[in-house]
Amino acid sequence: MEKFKGNKVVLIGNGAVGSSYAFSMLNQGACDEFVIIDLDERKAKGDAMDLNHGVVYAPSPMKIRYGTYEDCHDAALVVICAGAAQKPGETRLDLVGKNMKIFKSIVDEIMKSGFDGIFLIATNPVDVLTYAVQKFSGLPENQVIGSGTILDTARFRHLLSEEFDVSPNSVHGYIIGEHGDSELAVWSGTNIAGKSLYDILNENPEKQSRIEEIFVNTRDAAYEIIKAKGATYYGVAMGLMRISKAVLNNENVVLTVSAKLNGEYGHDDVYIGVPAIINRNGIREVLETPLNEEEKAKFAKSVQTLKDIQSPFFE
Ligand code: NAD
Repeated sequence: MEKFKGNKVVLIGNGAVGSSYAFSMLNQGACDEFVIIDLDERKAKGDAMDLNHGVVYAPSPMKIRYGTYEDCHDAALVVICAGAAQKPGETRLDLVGKNMKIFKSIVDEIMKSGFDGIFLIATNPVDVLTYAVQKFSGLPENQVIGSGTILDTARFRHLLSEEFDVSPNSVHGYIIGEHGDSELAVWSGTNIAGKSLYDILNENPEKQSRIEEIFVNTRDAAYEIIKAKGATYYGVAMGLMRISKAVLNNENVVLTVSAKLNGEYGHDDVYIGVPAIINRNGIREVLETPLNEEEKAKFAKSVQTLKDIQSPFFE
């Protein structure tokens, strides 16, 4: 069943997000060969050296080096974090024109190498750029994954875990839709350690306003972090590492990623954050989590937001 062999990972874009991802991969011993590519060769070479000095204390050996696009030919996973970052006050969607051009040239180089592994995209606007990578590369849709709402779901579970004083691992819920302002929480499917959030709110109606605040804080977390320190990177790096491990270890785990819809939720021709089963082949299956009428309407709006942005580029 496995089409892909080996577990070489190539990172394109070694900025704040990419280098944090490299560090988390080393810490988790998630692959045995890690290649870094960036326009800023000097900094990337410095990072490769620095990371190599941590290998002796890592859980397993890892070869880390600066490389070229030819390195992609036998990579299991190519992770793209290259591009312009979100500036204070700028929405993720403002970035689209800039990053679309950068992506065309990067994906052309990768495909010239003969790459036939899994793409994982983090650069914003991530849903639109994931769609673009699938179009530019021509690879099967399951082989192209965007980080989607993996980070937003983590932020949501973290805030709920603080509110209810349980581990985020015991909080079950998804943020779906655009990784951005039109995303939504699937409240109807959220449960805290097995008890539905709706039941909890029926018993504790005073918590309703806190729950609404939690969603707003989830959705707007990036703006707050960017205001405070210029960029967000540790959380997304952990999310990227989680998806990478799901692919490399053939986990069949459900994660909220940007996946291509082909009729699921009544939509198609869009990559958007949804729960999906991730394994060695990339996206095994998009899961249709039940949505109530309000959630369906919000999701449809989020799909439209993305289509409005991507369509001028792909008509
Ligand atoms: P950064 O500016 O620190 O890093 C970008 C890197 O890309 C730089 O090292 C730059 O040299 C490199 N680069 C630019 N063009 C390149 C090219 N053509 N080829 C190779 N390398 C190139 O930015 P960052 O803070 O690391 O953010 C990277 C991206 O990740 C941004 O688009 C940001 O919005 C996004 N991001 C996504 C999420 C998410 O949840 N998906 C979260 C945070 C940030």
